Formats: sequence, C-alpha cells, structure tokens
Amino acid sequence: MIVMKFGGTSVGSGQRIRAVHDICAAGIEERPVVVVSAVKGVTDLLLRAAEEAALCGKDPRAHFQQIAQIHAGICDDLQVPSSEIKNLLDECQSLLQGLHLLRELTLRTRDAVASYGERLSARITASYFRLRGLSAKAYDAWDVGMLTSSEFTQAKPLVEAEARMKQAFSMLPESEIPVVTGFIGKDQHGQVTTLGRGGSDYSAALIGAALRVKEIQIWTDVSGIMTGDPRVVPHARILPAVSFDEAAELAYFGAKVLHPRTIEPAITTGIPVLVKNSFFPEDPGTTILPGTEVKEGAVKAITSKKGITCLNLRSTRMLEAPGFLHSVFSVFHSHGLSIDVISTSEVSVSLTLDNAENLEEAMKELGDIAQVSVEQGRSIICLVGEGIKTTLGVAGRIFTVLGKEEINVEMISQGASRINITFVVSDHDADRAVRCLHDEFFS
Ligand code: ADP
Ligand code: ASP
Ligand code: MG
Repeated sequence: MIVMKFGGTSVGSGQRIRAVHDICAAGIEERPVVVVSAVKGVTDLLLRAAEEAALCGKDPRAHFQQIAQIHAGICDDLQVPSSEIKNLLDECQSLLQGLHLLRELTLRTRDAVASYGERLSARITASYFRLRGLSAKAYDAWDVGMLTSSEFTQAKPLVEAEARMKQAFSMLPESEIPVVTGFIGKDQHGQVTTLGRGGSDYSAALIGAALRVKEIQIWTDVSGIMTGDPRVVPHARILPAVSFDEAAELAYFGAKVLHPRTIEPAITTGIPVLVKNSFFPEDPGTTILPGTEVKEGAVKAITSKKGITCLNLRSTRMLEAPGFLHSVFSVFHSHGLSIDVISTSEVSVSLTLDNAENLEEAMKELGDIAQVSVEQGRSIICLVGEGIKTTLGVAGRIFTVLGKEEINVEMISQGASRINITFVVSDHDADRAVRCLHDEFFS
C-alpha cells in the first residue's frame, strides 16, 4: 500500500481533480489510500465566514454562497451530481447561521466549521473516481480511526489512533480506493478537531505509519523540496533527496511545503516520504529517507519563519544558580508556550516563541525571576544540511555575508544535531537575508 496526499491546489479545480484521478489510476497496483485537503482557499473562506458572522455580526450568507459556488462549479465541470455534497453544504450553512445568531466562536466551533472543506473535497474526488470506473469511497477521517486530543485547532493523535486506523482500514474492501479527509479528526467526546493549518500532510503521514505503507507521497504544486522558498528565491533548485532530520528541521523552521509534524510518524516507522508535483507527475520529486549521503556543499536549504517574538531574560542570579533555567522553563510550560530557538550566556537567556498568545500572563511570572524584554516582528532564518557537521567555515561565511549586507543578527544557535544553523533577524530583513545567503551557498 501507499498513501497519496493531494494538497489544496492539487484538488483546486475540475481539471486538477482529473489529474489526481490519472495519478491515482496509474498507481492503482500499489493500492493507494488517498488523502485530500480542502479545495484551495476554502479553509480560509470558511474561517473568515465564521469569524465575521460571530465576531462582527456579518451575515455569513455571502461567504457561504461563494463556498457553495466553488464546489458547484467543480461538480459541474466533472459531472459529479451536486446531491453528493448537498447535505454537507446544508449542514455547513446551518452551523454558520447558528454562529451568527449566537455571536460566539470557540476554538471548538472553529474546527467544526473548518472541517467542511476537506469533507466536501473528499466526496467530490471519490465521486469523480467512481464516474471514471474506479471503485472509490469518501471517508471522514474519524470514520477510519483518526482519534485526537481535544486541543482544538492544534489537536494531536491519541495513542489509540494507530490501532483504530489499522482496524478500520483492514475492514475496507481490498478493491476500494479510500479517499480520506486530511486535516481533521474527532476527540474522545466525538467533537470535531483539526491538526493545525496545513495539517493534511500530517494526516497522510499518520495514516501511512499506522498502515505501515511502502511510501507516503505528498503531491503538491512544486516539484519537491527546494533550496529556498520559491516565492522568496525565484531561482531556488529542487533537492532530489533529503534526510529525515533535514526535512524535519526544514519543515519546523518554515518550509511550508511540509507541515512541521509530517516527518515524525515517518521517522518512527522508517517509511520514505516522496514530495511530488501533481502538475508535473513525471518530475522525480524529492525523496526523504532515513539518511542521505552528504554530497556537494554543506548547506542543503535555507528557510525562514516570520512573525516571531523574541524574549531576552537577564538575571545576575543566573550565575552559578542551578535551578534558574528550570524555573524559566516551568513558566513557559505552565502557559503552554513552546520555545523554538534558544541561546544562553552566563547572565542572560534569549529565546523565540512563534505563538505569543499567553505571553502577558507568563511575563508577570517571569518578571519575578529575571528582567525581561520582548521584541516582536522577528524572523528565524535556518540553514539546514547534514554536511554542516563536517564542513569548516559555514558559520563564518554566513555572518560575513550578512555583515556585508548590513543585516543585524540578534540570536545565533546551532542545535545538538549540528545539522542546522539558526539565527534571528528583523522581519523586514528576512527575505533579503535568505536571498543573499542563497546566492552565497548555491550560485
Ligand atoms: P499544499 O496545498 O499542496 O499542501 P502548500 O502551499 O502547503 O501546498 O505547500 C507548497 C508551497 O510551499 C509551495 O508552493 C511553495 O511556495 C512553498 N514553499 C516554501 N518553502 C519551500 C521549499 N523550501 N521548497 C518547496 N516549496 C516551498
Ligand atoms: N485545508 C487545511 C488548511 O488550509 C489543511 C491543509 O491544506 O493541509 O490549512
Ligand atoms: Mg500544505
């Protein structure tokens, strides 16, 4: 078996869904489990409709009509009967109307609303496959065992999910292609959850790991993982192979092509992940494997993550005080704040947070143990490559280039794996930093 996951652009129109059919039909011998995202833009529209209805009192009908029209247009184009999605659309409309009346939007209801995107696209895709003579059926992820925590908008799979998925898929007819919704699941109380924006990649990897498939294929709109974000570095190149560790760092530090957690299930099970382009299926794509030999150059790719908050903590008590970092970290832990990059000196700790939502509360407690300053509007830049471990002078080259460009670097860190060098710059310098480093290492 294999998993084939198609992102929003790949199911973004009738024409794209035809291409998805052709790709799956060509892989039929491998017994694909198909995982789909919502049609491009639909998750954003659903969330906007919910927010405006509940928080601004705006009638959700206009947004809903737009969502309904997008799907009706695709159904028309593919000659899929609109009855396939009528009930779901009605449900979605009632939910939006309810939010409008109540003027209330919890994280739980946000997830319920967001789930309709994937549920609609899975039904249309499966129905079209059937029209083309394949035996296919749409499944909401919870019907095939995707049981998650109740952390709405950022849910995680529960340990039982793996066994449940295995069991659920083993009951399906062998000849059938299941078309499963990415991104969503249900918690133990039967409430709809989502795995975080971009989470369909993660769904695909979780299903792939549970079923111990031969390969997890992520079909997207670029021909693989590139040396830089193509929107920032137009001449970025495709990487034929990257290691699990490299891919994990890249995804974590901002390469949108993979959801940050996608690689975890693949690492635990050792299943290769292949990133492919649904527009150009013949392109070889990027293979992500347990280890890749270090070829040409130390740096494989450069990523950036914008909108980061930096905290600087200073305390003379840090000097030879064993429990200091412990007390700092417990404050972050108790407020659910997760730290991305950290660097310390004898009297200070600097760290970055990408979600500063509960920061105010945490600051009060941190103020008791250290002097704290906060800097917003920062970007993490990360250079990744197994070869960084063994190559001399990479850091020297990075900071010389940035110095020449007069880009101020605020925090520098190299993880214990030594396959990345990470630092922080101001948001408005981020793209320039990525471009000049790309020139330095790849041209
Ligand atoms: P999908 O809808 O298929 O999940 P995404 O939009 O989530 O697709 O991810 C693909 C996009 O990721 C690409 O179109 C590209 O703009 C962006 N991207 C950012 N960094 C990279 C990178 N290093 N390599 C490839 N794509 C990248
Ligand atoms: N549709 C969801 C999103 O837009 C999940 C995904 O595309 O992976 O975030
Ligand atoms: Mg994505």
